[in-house]
Amino acid sequence: MDNFIDVLVKDVTGENEGRRVSYMIRFNALLMCFYFMCWMSVFTFYRMSVAIIISAMALVANMVAVEMTYQKRNGPARIVFAAVLCAWMAYFVAWWGWECGVQHFVFVLITLAFAGTYVSDFGKILLSIGVFILRMLLYIWHMSHEPVEHLARTVSIIFQMINIITIFVSIVIILFLFTHDKMETEAKLARYNAKLMDQAGHDHLTRLPNRTKALAYLSEMILGGEITRGVSVAIGDIDYFKKINDTYGHDAGDAVLRFLASTFSSFMKDHGMAVRWGGEEFLFIFKNENLDDAAYLLNKLLDKIRFSHIEWNDLDLQVTMTFGVTDMEIPMDADLTPQAVQASIDEAITFADKKLYMGKAKGRNMIIM
Ligand code: GH3
Ligand code: MG
Ligand code: MG
Repeated sequence: MDNFIDVLVKDVTGENEGRRVSYMIRFNALLMCFYFMCWMSVFTFYRMSVAIIISAMALVANMVAVEMTYQKRNGPARIVFAAVLCAWMAYFVAWWGWECGVQHFVFVLITLAFAGTYVSDFGKILLSIGVFILRMLLYIWHMSHEPVEHLARTVSIIFQMINIITIFVSIVIILFLFTHDKMETEAKLARYNAKLMDQAGHDHLTRLPNRTKALAYLSEMILGGEITRGVSVAIGDIDYFKKINDTYGHDAGDAVLRFLASTFSSFMKDHGMAVRWGGEEFLFIFKNENLDDAAYLLNKLLDKIRFSHIEWNDLDLQVTMTFGVTDMEIPMDADLTPQAVQASIDEAITFADKKLYMGKAKGRNMIIM
């Protein structure tokens, strides 16, 4: 069974057309192979020699169309498939008349024109008009000519069944592949979107949230009324980081940034967010932690940093950091507008930054509140 499915789905084209179209043509041409084999048996049973020859030719043409889909020649395969179908409808209606439903194959052609081609909208309209004209010509022929052969009622029912079942299956195949493909594409788009959103909100080197993400996080939590104990923010900057780059190279500096980022990320997991603010500066958002809580936590974090040994290429690197921390002034409920929130975020960050530079001036490796 698996082998059979592998053969059905193998070698579909990937260049200009989606897999959907290849499958549609291949499966429909295969269906038509069965259809014409079925007719050959029926005609053999009723000893209709001309019909046997015609259905054998149609069978061979559809086998060629199937083969073409394996050679990634979907265009010619589609033309062969459609041409055989048109010729077959004309032959069938002229020979046995209208009663057997063969003319409903025009709906297969219409569905295929819309779901199984990449022609322009105008091209699709033209194809539809072509199919409509074919349908009208068949009808006019039927109204003005007697069929060559009148079928007995039971034979007519058998003929009708073969046609209707095949038309139904054919349309189901086309629509199934079309909707399945569409849903797959939509799911893929949703995944790409989520990935892009994630990338847009994170720093590439450290995987920490970036400035944009941090500002959105802050304003959403404040505007969303999630703050019960206040918000504190801190800016931390690595001391003498340039020396690490100058002494050991930029890669060593990157390794230090990544190590610290992962330390910050796990440390801040239950307290808010650690952000790569830019270069070797990081922003720490303490959600529902007052200034004392934040300072206490930062002291713990600074101790962690001081005693960390960052391994890089057999080297053992150590760094310290300086932090400036402040608590945010949250606007009162009546003034809780996005603009007011943005202003208080900016104010708090500027204030924390000032404290950081005070710490740098005082000798670094400390927290200023
Ligand atoms: P201070 O204690 O005053 O903060 O001294 P500093 O050397 O840390 O400060 P300075 O601002 O002079 O240097 C920051 C350095 O950080 C300069 C820049 O090359 C480096 N840097 C910024 N971003 C990256 C990065 O992504 N990777 C690496 N390796 N270095 C970076
Ligand atoms: Mg620095
Ligand atoms: Mg700096």
